[in-house]
Amino acid sequence: MSKKRKRVKINIIEEYSLEDLHTKFKNHKRLKVFANKGTRCVACHCNGTRLIKRRYIQKNGSFEDHIDLYTDKMLLMTVDHMLPKCKKGSEDLKNKQPMCTKCNCEKNGKYTPILGRFSWYYRFRYLIKEWVRKW
Ligand SMILES: [Zn+2]
Repeated sequence: MSKKRKRVKINIIEEYSLEDLHTKFKNHKRLKVFANKGTRCVACHCNGTRLIKRRYIQKNGSFEDHIDLYTDKMLLMTVDHMLPKCKKGSEDLKNKQPMCTKCNCEKNGKYTPILGRFSWYYRFRYLIKEWVRKW
């Protein structure tokens, strides 16, 4: 009785140059974050190097195109809200930072790393806080 997942076929349609982040896509809601804040994950520092357009085809034939940034190992780079949206974090560029899917899953709306070298400090502080709360 396993849940059937929606089958989606994914095709790579086009690969762009990273330069396009600063020209073609500079006003793209998601991609402009990478143009402004860099292509590296703020937590693990892995680098987005491939800008790829993929077509997600549903079983019923409808499709959607998405342009996303991936690392060499095809790990998807996402845009993270430093102050999560559920805590009224803004959609402003100031509140956004590049983060890979792996780190974003770990974060899971809990702690809020900041850009740069203090992120580990905040992560550590968060873990201590969580640990204290359990006792
Ligand atoms: Zn990461």
